[in-house]
Amino acid sequence: MKFQVLTSIFLVVTFFACQAQPGKMSRPNIIFIMADDHATRAISAYGDSINLTPNIDRIANEGALFVNSFCANSICSPSRATILTGKHSHKNGVTGNGALWKSNQTLLPRQLKRNGYATALFGKWHLNRNPGNEFDQWKILMGAGRQGHYYNPEFTDKTGKSIVEEGYSTDIITRESLEWMDAHQAKKEDKPFFLMVQYKAPHTPRMPALRHLHVYEQDTIPEPLTLFDDYSTRGKHAGKAAMKIKSEPGMSLNVFPAYNSYDINKKQYHYLQRMNEEQRQAYHAYYDSLNNEYRQMKRAGLLEGRAGKSYSYQRFIKDYLRVVKGIDENVGTILKYLDDHDLSENTIVVYASDQSYFTGEHGWAEKRYMYEEAMKMPLLMRWPARISEGTVVEELVQNIDYLPTFLDMAGVKVPDDVQGTSFKSLAFGKLPPQWREAVYYHYYDHGRHNVPRHEGIRTARFKLIWFYTTDTWELYDLYKDPHEVNNIYGNSECQDVEMMLKEQLQQLRKRYEVPDSLFHPPYMPVGRGRH
Ligand code: CA
Repeated sequence: MKFQVLTSIFLVVTFFACQAQPGKMSRPNIIFIMADDHATRAISAYGDSINLTPNIDRIANEGALFVNSFCANSICSPSRATILTGKHSHKNGVTGNGALWKSNQTLLPRQLKRNGYATALFGKWHLNRNPGNEFDQWKILMGAGRQGHYYNPEFTDKTGKSIVEEGYSTDIITRESLEWMDAHQAKKEDKPFFLMVQYKAPHTPRMPALRHLHVYEQDTIPEPLTLFDDYSTRGKHAGKAAMKIKSEPGMSLNVFPAYNSYDINKKQYHYLQRMNEEQRQAYHAYYDSLNNEYRQMKRAGLLEGRAGKSYSYQRFIKDYLRVVKGIDENVGTILKYLDDHDLSENTIVVYASDQSYFTGEHGWAEKRYMYEEAMKMPLLMRWPARISEGTVVEELVQNIDYLPTFLDMAGVKVPDDVQGTSFKSLAFGKLPPQWREAVYYHYYDHGRHNVPRHEGIRTARFKLIWFYTTDTWELYDLYKDPHEVNNIYGNSECQDVEMMLKEQLQQLRKRYEVPDSLFHPPYMPVGRGRH
């Protein structure tokens, strides 16, 4: 009798264990890798690229490439806040880089943690308060206004202590992430994980790893078609933006005095000051001759005009691509780790950037504007168990959609107050019956870059922008004018299109509950921030 009872208990336990196991196993791990200011033009999976990124491309080749992915507000903190909350800036409160971060709202990592996920974050956080209990473990870049440094970067974690790690930031963030995965695996908890790996690269000041200083040295990188844009067909604002490639030679071109010829303790050299002697010598060994050449050209007046702009572009873009090369190698390290630990099949790997970037287009090296290069958001996603190789998604997706998509993929209910929509079906190659026809955009952080507040919508074909503080409108036909150099707003043949787009814009404002008060003086105050 006793034996029978024990046998029955054993069978029942075995039955439930077997029932539970497949369910548990089917919940995917999620690794969200995000760069900062990584232009789609510098990711070869996107085509027409100016470099090769074989490891990042692998994510799209073995999964999905989103070619019409956009951010809701093209600047660092707002994009991060939107990813974490699934909401537009006016709803999550982070309208600009200086805005307060309220972590007590619905957050992607918290929703996953509550539903049985182990959660962690390593790298650039760039919100104005540290993470909280939504992550089991976190370690974020500090210094330079929470932008972090490339060399020997400072971090902080739950302890609140300042921790300086020797080495190169992209490599360190990867190493910390792999160590966390090792520790997670060692626990044998059978718990899926959500890991955010957030690089500082390729944000300014673009400091390549020493091993990449000479890459592209002999190359001439192609110039974008709009490098010499004169803005004559745009509204009154584009020509006044302080976003020129060489507007800050120290930050954007690695122009600094020769070795031992300056006071390293001066504030403007804080990023060089962090280097150890060996790093600094190697850095100067590469840049000093280039910077001598720069100073000679400046004295001779050769940095003006088209030739000067071409020279600045080459200096800027080569450093940009070197820093991107560091990311690509590290993405390769993460993918290899997954292969080596038999984790690839059921781990969703996402590669994104908080926004794309003007890599010389319109003569700029920045973001902020609703024009394509800044509004785009690279997005690549691999999940071998569910996403077919070589999937290309052309529908409009936005960073408000990440939270609902990841929750949907993890089998977690999406909270009702979230504004985005899961694009899981699109990733699986299926078009939902009603997918959105337009995305809404709103930029608030009018500051030293002199980009005024604006909002607008982008459909598959058209883009309507309203600079509401000066009541200036711009309209682009992206089929005929993909580089947005011909503002057709006000043309008599465009009246119907304008009416239709304004109606759609009104609908989106209503849908996303954008307050009317934003559009009238005194304009809602937004946080102060520099980058
Ligand atoms: Ca950014």
